[in-house]
Amino acid sequence: MVNYWSSLFVLPKAVLAEVNKLLRNFLWSGTEFKHTGAKWVRVQLVRDRCFWTLGTPQNCSSNWKKILQLKGVARSMILQKVGNGEHTYFWEDNWLHGGPLSLRVAEGFLQDSQILPHQRLSSLISDGDWSFPASILEQFPAIALIAPPSSSPDSSSWIPSPTGSFTLCHTIGWLEAPRPSTIWHHLVWSSLSVPRCKFSLWLAVQNRLSTLNRSSMRDVPGLRLCHLCNFSDESHDHLFFACTFARPIWVYLQHKSRFHAPPSSWNYFVAWASHNWSGRNLRCAMNRLTLSSAINKIWEERNNRAFRNQKSSQMVVLRHITELIRQNLLSRQVKDSPFARKLALHWDLPSFVRPPAKPPDLIV
Ligand SMILES: [Zn+2]
Repeated sequence: MVNYWSSLFVLPKAVLAEVNKLLRNFLWSGTEFKHTGAKWVRVQLVRDRCFWTLGTPQNCSSNWKKILQLKGVARSMILQKVGNGEHTYFWEDNWLHGGPLSLRVAEGFLQDSQILPHQRLSSLISDGDWSFPASILEQFPAIALIAPPSSSPDSSSWIPSPTGSFTLCHTIGWLEAPRPSTIWHHLVWSSLSVPRCKFSLWLAVQNRLSTLNRSSMRDVPGLRLCHLCNFSDESHDHLFFACTFARPIWVYLQHKSRFHAPPSSWNYFVAWASHNWSGRNLRCAMNRLTLSSAINKIWEERNNRAFRNQKSSQMVVLRHITELIRQNLLSRQVKDSPFARKLALHWDLPSFVRPPAKPPDLIV
């Protein structure tokens, strides 16, 4: 109707602005029709389901389709402030800095946890405090720092805006700004590491190696046992490095490369190593090289057993890893330092340390 009359008569700017204001108010925030449009969307389209996990229906309006397509972008901009937990989904809302928890664990972990996919935080309160399963606290140690539940309702904050409220200009600025790289960027893409090992590590830090807990057969008893030890369920957490086959290899490599990594879950270890091994110095580069080589060779051994029926002992796998590291270091030369000399000694690298430059000959 508005379009029809607008095409017949030239309307003054003020009238057009007033029409726009009425439309905007109807949808979002006017005084006369407060939240009418948003309320309708919630009641009719979202209902009591979690918005973040809604699928796109075949027969819906193009506007609703576009909103659903963009919800992933919007989710990264909303931080949920937890009060009584009644409107916060444990797995899907971004309430613990770093993004929704469902995107930070392997599918198998989510299914094995004692928290259901659409469970709200309010259902995890006992005697006035949060009551999380031990496996969750181990996986996400930062949860222990969350304030106890309060009586106030949960609220949302718009991350791009300094006030926490949605503004178009801050949102556009945030979308156009270069995003910081992932925390593990330097851990994976290290110049000293071998390309195929970088690729294995890249998959592993994202929990994307096709371990048995991620396969379609994960629910069949006995078919998710680790190929290396044949004792525990195979997962990233187990392979790196709780497995009785892989653990001694990792311990030996730590000793040989002269570093110490804390025993912890795989995700926690990745976060720890990303923080502590991101430097450009030789020590950090060596740790990254050792890690990526170990991941690559342990995964290769796992695949040999799974698909080629070939088994190697721990000693053979360890020799393959150390050969890979040594071959890579043999072609390098670094400037002299106590650490470089220790590495050269431990890895038998005769020309690893660059000799000091000769002083220029004196001209007589
Ligand atoms: Zn194992």
